[in-house]
Amino acid sequence: MGSFESLKKIKDPLSFAARDNFRRLHVVKDLEIFVARWADAVRVNGDLPEAFVAELSACFKEFNTLSLKQKESRIRQSLHLIRTFEANSPLSAYQPQRLTGGDMPPEKDIRTMLRVFTVSTSRLKGVGPARLEKLREMGCETIGNLLYHFPFRYEDRRKVRTIGELQAGTSAYIMGTLSGITRKGVRQKGYLTAQISDGTGVLTLKWFKGLSYFQKSLRVGTRYHIFGEVKRFGPLLEIHHPDMEIVKNGGTSDMFGTFLPVYPETGTIGQKPFRKLMIQAFDTAAPYLTDPLPASLRTAYNFPSLAEGLKVLHCLDASRQEVSPEIQDFARARKRFLYETYFFLELILALNKRELAALPGVRCNATSNELATFIHALPFTLTGAQQRTLEEIFADVISPRPMNRLLQGDVGSGKTVVAGVAAALYLSHGYQVALMAPTEVLAQQHYRTFRQLPFIEKETLALLVGSHKASEKNNLHDAISTGEKRLVIGTHALIQKGVVFSNLGLVIIDEQHRFGVRQRFKLASKGPPPDLLMMTATPIPRTLSMTLYGDMDLSIIDELPPGRTPVVTRCVSGRKRGQLYTSLRNHLEKRQQVYVIYPLIEESEKLDLEDATTNAKWLREIVFPDYTVALLHGKLPSQEKQALMQSFQAGGIHVLVSTTVIEVGVDVPNATIMVIEHAERFGLSQLHQLRGRVGRGRKASFCYLVVHSKKSEDARKRLAIMEETTDGFKIAEADLAIRGPGDILGTRQSGSPLFMTHILGWDSQLLKQARDDAFSLLNYMPREALSGLLAYVKEKAKRWEELARI
Ligand code: ADP
Ligand code: MG
Repeated sequence: MGSFESLKKIKDPLSFAARDNFRRLHVVKDLEIFVARWADAVRVNGDLPEAFVAELSACFKEFNTLSLKQKESRIRQSLHLIRTFEANSPLSAYQPQRLTGGDMPPEKDIRTMLRVFTVSTSRLKGVGPARLEKLREMGCETIGNLLYHFPFRYEDRRKVRTIGELQAGTSAYIMGTLSGITRKGVRQKGYLTAQISDGTGVLTLKWFKGLSYFQKSLRVGTRYHIFGEVKRFGPLLEIHHPDMEIVKNGGTSDMFGTFLPVYPETGTIGQKPFRKLMIQAFDTAAPYLTDPLPASLRTAYNFPSLAEGLKVLHCLDASRQEVSPEIQDFARARKRFLYETYFFLELILALNKRELAALPGVRCNATSNELATFIHALPFTLTGAQQRTLEEIFADVISPRPMNRLLQGDVGSGKTVVAGVAAALYLSHGYQVALMAPTEVLAQQHYRTFRQLPFIEKETLALLVGSHKASEKNNLHDAISTGEKRLVIGTHALIQKGVVFSNLGLVIIDEQHRFGVRQRFKLASKGPPPDLLMMTATPIPRTLSMTLYGDMDLSIIDELPPGRTPVVTRCVSGRKRGQLYTSLRNHLEKRQQVYVIYPLIEESEKLDLEDATTNAKWLREIVFPDYTVALLHGKLPSQEKQALMQSFQAGGIHVLVSTTVIEVGVDVPNATIMVIEHAERFGLSQLHQLRGRVGRGRKASFCYLVVHSKKSEDARKRLAIMEETTDGFKIAEADLAIRGPGDILGTRQSGSPLFMTHILGWDSQLLKQARDDAFSLLNYMPREALSGLLAYVKEKAKRWEELARI
């Protein structure tokens, strides 16, 4: 629900009570309870500011005990609050209920534009196979995508400055004659310097890389165009690694004397040729541009139109001449495209949600008595948060609407148990349940956990993973299709061809961020849509979870089972690591177990693995010869991996050296020490996940972050947060603040974030606004009027699906 709907939910009944001078007030019942429920719902969704919700709720404190006159006055007061809020909040900027169909982009025009947008960039002049390949890599394989590839900065190279007028800290364009090239410093720290003079002064140029190349190609006594950032070095001014070109053709140049948009990642194509392609693309598309955003919405936000916005960001004027727009135009255009991205994404979510709600779902006739019986059978008492979550899930279980719920909870908060109880409800009513985990190790573990649940019938339980032999698989497939196996736990193997469920009621997906969107739905689409429960241990800041999972209902377990002691976290310098390992002996003597984690980063995978292997050897032979040390990594055959995990779980292995295959969900309560090597190379949420492997029992647990390279500023902040808190949501918020959402949301292979945040930035407020707008637009507009928008959304969705690895 968006802010707009939330507000309407409370405003309508209050207005009803106040109508005709409160004539019907006496028939309005239970306002106090109604308002309290409303406030709870709003708080869960974070739709409206807490101060406002609190003030409004206060009006209805002990409402039932008041006289009619007092009640009238309280309702007046509350309506006044609502009206003031509406007038002062940005919600009033745009009111879709006032829209008319004529405001919407006509479908015909949108389709024409989309036809042009989908033309391949290979049709542009100057694009051969090599350039096309590069364009593809950049995500610019079509005219439309190329136009949406925005410059990430701009350089003002219009005016030539004299050296005499230069100031440090600015970027400048100068022309001058080169002299005095010399190589200085010793081998490793060597650099190249040269002087440039223009009659008003002398400026030093320096190079720290590619010395031989520059030494060979630079020509003394020649006049150059030069652009770069001017720095002060003592009394002198310098430019490092300047952009240079020999002055020819009477001083004119493509790269100098102009305003230059600079595009990200153009690589071999080069800025200027890329810009020429952009101009061609714009020329091709310009006659067909139709703004996909409703006109009134654009007006409400004071956004430029699509054509205007593109012109501004690509620095083109009506006749495709290069121009340099005003700063405020840039800001408005950026905001427009940022909003557009959010708006269409949210529209897709809103559509998903609506379509899903209209489907007939599984209706499981479980009773709350059964629920209570299952909960009772557990060996422990549920936490309040688990209890609440199960009630939310239960409401979905018994409803005929399809369940589409995301269960968020920190590592160890007890999601699996909650899922187990939910599964039991379906099983006891004859449905099948599938649980999909991202790795075999995890699938195994879930299998064991579920086997131990008191209310699961062991013989109906099956484990289906990729490493099974074909014959085993076939047997399992048969048992699943006949309904003999009813609770099926597995990996991707669950969604392979040949797996057909006879009566699938519930699908549970663990750690959904490891799966592609499409895969999730392939699984869900067998037979009538089963209910869907996703679990994630990656706490996501609310604004982000609304963005990504806005079509799902959200349940949060924000409480850990009792008796856990928070993990103590410390940074350790790589130089002191010997000492650290020796001190671990104390823990080992107390029969506690240790994880040692190594990063495995794609680019240097081989080296990383060597590193982990060497270290395991060192620990085994030198440091802990009297203990069992094992090495676990993703390249091991899965049988071996499982054997290792089982042995660790049983206490047969004391120190487990591992790459991040261990990351998600593994549960060994007796392992209390976590050493993370090269901690500076991990992201915050990954560190948090890893640390979650310890602190699972009653014993005090420790996490040592071993830092090897000189820490970057970001890494330093990250590690400080890890030392400070164990609260996953706090960590997620901090991660968002440090890295920006691009990294968190998942990036394209080539590294360009889904939301173009490296160019357009991020604006949580605008996102929330776009979400409200998109959801209310769907509510208020008849479907016919939306056809143009929907055509555009479909095209966008295709692209997002390609881009997203979420
Ligand atoms: P998650 O899946 O959220 O990481 P699990 O469901 O694996 O968490 O639970 C972690 C551990 O805590 C398990 O050993 C589980 O048995 C235990 N546990 C779960 N809920 C409770 C509870 N309410 N009280 C005590 N222990 C619990
Ligand atoms: Mg789990």
